[in-house]
Amino acid sequence: MVDIRSVHKSFGSLQVLRGIDLEVRSGEVAVVLGPSGSGKSTLLRAINHLEKVDSGWISVAGSLVGYRRQGDRLYELREREILKQRTRIGFVFQNFNLFPHLTVLENIVEAPVSALRCPRKEAVRAAETLLARVGLADKAAAYPRQLSGGQQQRVAIARALALEPELLLFDEPTSALDPELVGEVLDVIKDLAHQGTTMIVVTHEIGFAREVADTVVFMDGGRIVEQGPPAEVLDAPRHERTKAFLSKVL
Ligand code: ATP
Ligand code: MG
Repeated sequence: MVDIRSVHKSFGSLQVLRGIDLEVRSGEVAVVLGPSGSGKSTLLRAINHLEKVDSGWISVAGSLVGYRRQGDRLYELREREILKQRTRIGFVFQNFNLFPHLTVLENIVEAPVSALRCPRKEAVRAAETLLARVGLADKAAAYPRQLSGGQQQRVAIARALALEPELLLFDEPTSALDPELVGEVLDVIKDLAHQGTTMIVVTHEIGFAREVADTVVFMDGGRIVEQGPPAEVLDAPRHERTKAFLSKVL
């Protein structure tokens, strides 16, 4: 489903991704761990073409991200095609990024109506179903500022799901939350995992990784140092850097 090959990315002289190879199969959950600055967010942003890679390529559900292949050359997609491609990949950020001036319902309805030209009535019905799914059926008319951080993040997840994405990306979805609100958001993500949603989740929640990850990926210095099932990477890491990192977060 997701195929990342030999991806490099620099900002000026700073090499942030130094040859990333990663495969995530349909229905699988990959959890990405690593110290600050190791390139985790840059990798997620590259999967959505929010960052353009310098070399290598990424494909999602059989389509090259950001490019079209013609013969043996790659051509960058036009802005409109990139936006269309992005609707197939849901992205949930650390800071929720809800539209503050729209109600919860309108936050969810906005993208399907404007990006996918979904009839409004249908979009509203789908949004109501999604809100029930994340446990917020009674908050449709509320504004983001009237919700707790955990509730806002659950709305953000519902909003990402409204486009029926083939892939969901999460960048530290619980790290801006008070500790007592982390569980309710992780529970929603766990439900999605159990329903077979393909996801890449950057998080330091090791318990979550152990429970839902098919693959745990440990990044350091722009490289994948170690990857494998949680029982290997979390419980029997082979690399010193993985051990050192885990001893700090566990
Ligand atoms: P964190 O755990 O703190 O979120 P991360 O693993 O997500 O870290 P990235 O955000 O991918 O790390 O950043 C990797 C490196 O790239 C950092 O040194 C960061 O300062 C740098 N960087 C990221 N985006 C840019 C940018 N647009 N311009 C310049 N440098 C950048
Ligand atoms: Mg980050």
